[in-house]
Amino acid sequence: MRRDWIGTGLAAAGVATALFLAPAATGAESIWSKVKSPARGAPLSIGSYSGGCVQGAKELPSPAEGGRYLVMRPERRRTFGHPALIDFVVKLGVGLEQKKLGPLAVGDLGQARGGPAPNGHASHQSGLDVDLWFEAGTPGAQQHSVVDLEAQKTSPYWSQRVPVMLELAAKDPRVARIFINALIKRELCQSAQGDRSWLSKLRPWWGHNEHFHVRLACPADSPECQAQPPLPAGDGCDEVDWWLSPEAVKDRNKGVESYQKRVGAQPKLPDSCKKVAEWSPGKEGAGREAALTPPAP
Ligand SMILES: [Zn+2]
Repeated sequence: MRRDWIGTGLAAAGVATALFLAPAATGAESIWSKVKSPARGAPLSIGSYSGGCVQGAKELPSPAEGGRYLVMRPERRRTFGHPALIDFVVKLGVGLEQKKLGPLAVGDLGQARGGPAPNGHASHQSGLDVDLWFEAGTPGAQQHSVVDLEAQKTSPYWSQRVPVMLELAAKDPRVARIFINALIKRELCQSAQGDRSWLSKLRPWWGHNEHFHVRLACPADSPECQAQPPLPAGDGCDEVDWWLSPEAVKDRNKGVESYQKRVGAQPKLPDSCKKVAEWSPGKEGAGREAALTPPAP
């Protein structure tokens, strides 16, 4: 079994820390989905990608303010992230436009203070995850698969955008992993010329044939951010055959079941997330200090 993890829990990260359980039932709205504004303070990604939160998040600026991207599901308001994630999305939009392949179609980032969402994802909790569509699309449009899963080849929706966008994203030094369908990785393993080092960040995962999921590494000044294990050595192209094997299909069924149990669940979060969840600007702007003090430089 060679699959990577799209969502790492605290246990997987091996961190012994005081924990706090968000007070809400599985799949229900919680304080994290109800709160509409970021917690003020230095930007801090806290905890793991699937059990964490973010202080000092920024909202992706409205595309009308000159962005080279479109937000595909604006009504969800999953448009917040650590400032490094916002900067990554904005720069990728510019890069794509420079290659005349824009605009970038942006799916979900995270909630205003991160934390577990009632639907859609088990990760996207610490302000470092974003889903981006392969197609240009228009807000509200359907996504299409860029590969034919049955025939195991590219679909009519495949275009030059796919490899260009993935290479641009993977070459950003802040990016730790990009989750894509194994068929897409196989295509890139066959076509990439010259420098192939960026292929190592492209991690096969189920689905991810209409959009790809970019995950930034823990920012250096977020001491409570829990990283995933380092990437295995090499470009990872030798793993693709396993992903397309009958053994992987069996493993998939188990994986989907356990993933679905985790979507909408209320994981235990680091203690610091309690302060982030409960931060409020105070009456008439009084008491606007940060939930958490910034770490020493
Ligand atoms: Zn995602």
